Amino acid sequence: MDNLRAMREAKYAESQKRAAAAPARPKAAVAPPATARKAVPATEPVAADELCGHRNMSGRTCTREQGHAAKSHRYS
Ligand SMILES: [Zn+2]
Repeated sequence: MDNLRAMREAKYAESQKRAAAAPARPKAAVAPPATARKAVPATEPVAADELCGHRNMSGRTCTREQGHAAKSHRYS
């Protein structure tokens, strides 16, 4: 009887280990590029809609309204 229980527990532990490892593998393969790709445009959608969105050389985005009349862009 103890033997049976030990076997069941071993199987359970193994399945737990597999369950924990299974989702980790696809995540590790897919998540990094997905988050890396998402992290960059994530800062833009808000600005892209109503703001000029022009980028200066240091990567900052113009905060003036889209199609602003001012000749210069504002990065603040
Ligand atoms: Zn601008």
